[in-house]
Amino acid sequence: MVFGLEGGAGFATVADMTASEQLFARAQARIPGGVNSPVRAFRAVGRAPFYTASAEGCRLHTEEGTELVDYVLAWGPAIFGHNDPDIRTAVQNAAAAGLGFGTTHAAEVRMAEMLCENVPSVEKVRMTNSGTEATMSAIRLARGHTGRKKIIKFAGCFHGHVDALLVKAGSGALTFGHPDSAGVNPGAAADTLVLPYNDTAALDAAFAADAAAAGQAAPDIAAVILEPYPGNVGLLFPEAGFLAHLRERCTRNGTLLIFDEVMTGFRLSPQGTMGLHTVRPDLVCLGKIIGGGLPVGAFGGRADIMDKLAPLGPVYQSGTFCGHPVTLAAGLAALEKLRRKNPYPALERAGKRIATAVREAAQRKGVALQVHQCGSMFTLFFNANPVRNLADVLGSDGALFGSVFRYALDHGVFLPPSPFESAFISAAHDDAAITQTEEVLAAAIAAL
Ligand SMILES: *Cc1c(COP(=O)(O)O)cnc(C)c1O
Repeated sequence: MVFGLEGGAGFATVADMTASEQLFARAQARIPGGVNSPVRAFRAVGRAPFYTASAEGCRLHTEEGTELVDYVLAWGPAIFGHNDPDIRTAVQNAAAAGLGFGTTHAAEVRMAEMLCENVPSVEKVRMTNSGTEATMSAIRLARGHTGRKKIIKFAGCFHGHVDALLVKAGSGALTFGHPDSAGVNPGAAADTLVLPYNDTAALDAAFAADAAAAGQAAPDIAAVILEPYPGNVGLLFPEAGFLAHLRERCTRNGTLLIFDEVMTGFRLSPQGTMGLHTVRPDLVCLGKIIGGGLPVGAFGGRADIMDKLAPLGPVYQSGTFCGHPVTLAAGLAALEKLRRKNPYPALERAGKRIATAVREAAQRKGVALQVHQCGSMFTLFFNANPVRNLADVLGSDGALFGSVFRYALDHGVFLPPSPFESAFISAAHDDAAITQTEEVLAAAIAAL
């Protein structure tokens, strides 16, 4: 065994290993699992990870010099593709003015105005350093505002690695078969009620049961948090009336409704999912695209709720790097470019092309496949039945996905390395890249 590489017994010497294999061997000795975020280990798809040397447009370049058309896109942020020249210039200019101030600065004001102008229901907003910090802070704020303890989340919705929200979560937590993390105290999750997504009856029952248990007319539920279009178990869709029902029940019970649009914000439209439906939340969590590729999160909503935050109110939230000038320069450049270029119609066309090619290939092959696609997000569920919640997702054939993933990777197309993630398309995916993808995915399915 060289460097303790997993499955590395076949390597006689380091010289027989590719650059990626050597790096992964060293990484496993010094980084748990060799990775700084679990899904990057590729464990769900039966491959060792490749190491990226550089990224440009819709393509990644590995340490071996292999070029890959990328549908992971840094897990969502790179809506203009990698290393967009406008964003890079904005970062360089911001860096020239200083690598962080620790004081207020103009870009914070512009970013707050930009988010309030674009995202419906956001009247005031705070920046954080990650989506996890955004959901954590939104939950605390909802509890502080309502004076209530409990929250409702939906199975399969992922809101970052917040203790109280790592219950039946999606994304990496699901890929690894541990929807519940060790190290989360029962108390931290005891006030989290988990319901099936798209199930209005379960929601009504939960509100009623909670009120009855407390012996009061209203339940003790501070907030309902959800991804309106879940994207961390693969892409799911809200059924007709589900979001409206949720809004009505929250309003009636004095419970705040929190939309986690960290993934979908500025991805599905400038309004996130709210460009696709008319339901409006009390609080919204953002991240990913609004940082232009740098680490970011934000939460915002009704001014009367947001004003409960310190220094105005009793709910504490802070951060050394929150509103970092270089991050905000990148984020503002991305948001201004989205406004200027409106890539959404072209992204939808590209998404439709891939979805159609894959559906037709599955039909020819006679393999049961549900393709979920909305704008620049898509997921392949190898499943004979409709996929509307986590239980349905888990009934999909992960082995078939693994085969398609490996075939695609060997032919220059990098899909998310898990059957439980949404793929993303960028504005930099040109006709040649989409055509190559259609052909490779169709061939991958034909080869099943
Ligand atoms: C990515 C994501 C998060 C977590 O954001 P981080 O920046 O990784 O902490 C939270 N919610 C949703 C919906 C996400 O997609």
